Amino acid sequence: MSRQLQARRTAWLEFTQLAADHRAVNLGQGFPDFSPPTFIQEALREALSGGYQMHQYTRVFGHPPLVRILAKFFGRIVGREIDPFEDVLVTAGAYQALFCAFQALIEEGDEVILVEPFFDCYQPMVELAGGKTVHVSLRPVEGSGVPSSGDWVLSPEELASKFNPRTKAIVINTPNNPLGKVYKTEELQVIADLCVRHDVLCISDEVYEWLTYDGNKHVKIASLPGMWERTVTIGSAGKTFSATGWKLGWAISSVHNMKNLKIIHLGSVYQCPTATQEAVARGFEREYELFGTPESYFQQLPAMLHQKREKLASCLGAAGLQPVMPEGGYFMIADISSVKVDLSDQSTEDEPKDFTFVKWLTKEKGLATMPVSTFYSPEHRREFSQYVRFCFVKEDSTLNAAEDILRKWS
Ligand code: PMP
Ligand code: GLN
Repeated sequence: MSRQLQARRTAWLEFTQLAADHRAVNLGQGFPDFSPPTFIQEALREALSGGYQMHQYTRVFGHPPLVRILAKFFGRIVGREIDPFEDVLVTAGAYQALFCAFQALIEEGDEVILVEPFFDCYQPMVELAGGKTVHVSLRPVEGSGVPSSGDWVLSPEELASKFNPRTKAIVINTPNNPLGKVYKTEELQVIADLCVRHDVLCISDEVYEWLTYDGNKHVKIASLPGMWERTVTIGSAGKTFSATGWKLGWAISSVHNMKNLKIIHLGSVYQCPTATQEAVARGFEREYELFGTPESYFQQLPAMLHQKREKLASCLGAAGLQPVMPEGGYFMIADISSVKVDLSDQSTEDEPKDFTFVKWLTKEKGLATMPVSTFYSPEHRREFSQYVRFCFVKEDSTLNAAEDILRKWS
């Protein structure tokens, strides 16, 4: 079994268990602790009380109403006709879409470029497919104002140096987990140019696509010239409708790429639950009509999260944890370098500093978070171990409880 897969299992299980054992205020794992919007709950209720068909198998590659509306919705965004039955695959969460993409597209010995920090399942999934990961880090450049995820950039030269004849794909995640970076069109263009020049695929994880703040706009790399044919775009109904437990996602790409992804889906999960697909289809149909209006959930959710982001940033600042303001997504990272706690008796030689800090914060202060070094390759982990990740998709009462802990301690 992949070493990375085992390490990953340890980190998530350990930190989730630690939070539960200490009944900690949980700003660790990324899920809302509030209900999904009423319209999507009603859609599921209606689906479940529909005919017997809602309780039986549906089309293997995606329930027809869902693939139709996904094609229509995203076709309008990327400005091209998307074929619902050829170009769309419905999966068990974005996770399975990622798994299908790596298994389908990566051959033994292929190189896959991962941009650090990256959602930590990418590396083990690439390795399981027989690929080799190559890493390039976003690095903060000196900014004049409040530190922002926008200050974290790729060096175009360093990025270009990672492409070679063995490179099969690059994986990007915008808005990024854990940093919150939202790639600008110019940044995506640099990546796209390299993909086209070297005939490389792009797997674009866009699960937080509706969540951008301060006027930042999410841009789909698949919409850039020459990229539709070489991009697999991945999304999540869980993130889209604040229902992470529904575990429904999708991959959208051109026919050629999709054929192989479908084979992997067929050979693993086979098909996803009918009623949740029906409900998500209804949710997207509603959003299609309301798109760009104040009634749209895709406007309301980021507006709500913007307030929560501000609240968390101000209490982290007051506690001496310098936050990096995210331009998008569910998470905020904060620098723990200037925190005045002596953890020398708790740390072990080989444990990154953020791991020690997160354990201490959970056990001693009752606040659960995630160490950012989990989102780096083992080679670069130590270089970025002065950050911890806080999730702000939480009830105000949860954020208030976290604020109490942080203010008392500072
Ligand atoms: N990609 C990223 C960047 C994530 O943060 C997550 C976690 N939600 C996933 C993929 C997996 O999404 P899902 O829950 O839909 O499987
Ligand atoms: N995407 C979520 C997070 O980053 C959940 C991860 C997980 O379940 N392993 O917290």
